[in-house]
Amino acid sequence: MKQKLVMPGDQLSTSEELLPGDGTFEENGIIKAARIGTYVVNEKHRTAEVKPATSVPVMLKKGDLVIGRVNSTRSTMIIVEVVHVVGKRRSVSGDTDATIHVKEIAPGYIKDASTEYKNEDFIRAKVIQVTPSIQLQTKDRNLGAIKALCTKCRHPLIKKSQGLECENCGHKEHRRIADDYGALDIDKL
Ligand SMILES: [Zn+2]
Repeated sequence: MKQKLVMPGDQLSTSEELLPGDGTFEENGIIKAARIGTYVVNEKHRTAEVKPATSVPVMLKKGDLVIGRVNSTRSTMIIVEVVHVVGKRRSVSGDTDATIHVKEIAPGYIKDASTEYKNEDFIRAKVIQVTPSIQLQTKDRNLGAIKALCTKCRHPLIKKSQGLECENCGHKEHRRIADDYGALDIDKL
């Protein structure tokens, strides 16, 4: 049985090889992960499955570290769906829509929030407010994008000394990144 940590939207297999199982969905013949977790091939049933990294739902608290997926970007703020609470091995209950104000993205001055994160980036962030709305920040070194795709061809961006570069087309891009960008570690989820 082979295991691999995956994020929602990751390509796992094809519908010719396997059937889409628990925690996955099929799109144009490609089986993709529907949640954060461990990719498992169920050899008996020939299904691709994603075992959740999380089980019992948890309410967000101020100070929690979370994993979120960017849903939309504006010059003044980033809108994020919180998909996971770090270290809790639990999913999020209740409202999962959160925002990061442009002033909360990095320690320095950021003029336009949409230059720092793009749609579908995965970020690690800290909860700074829960009510009336969930507010996050990514100013600390361990916060920021942990996985991002090329805006041109949707292949993963790889961390290079000069920033991020697409492994497929070579396009160079900028993000506010966490210090462990690209090194997805189950212990930090
Ligand atoms: Zn590319």
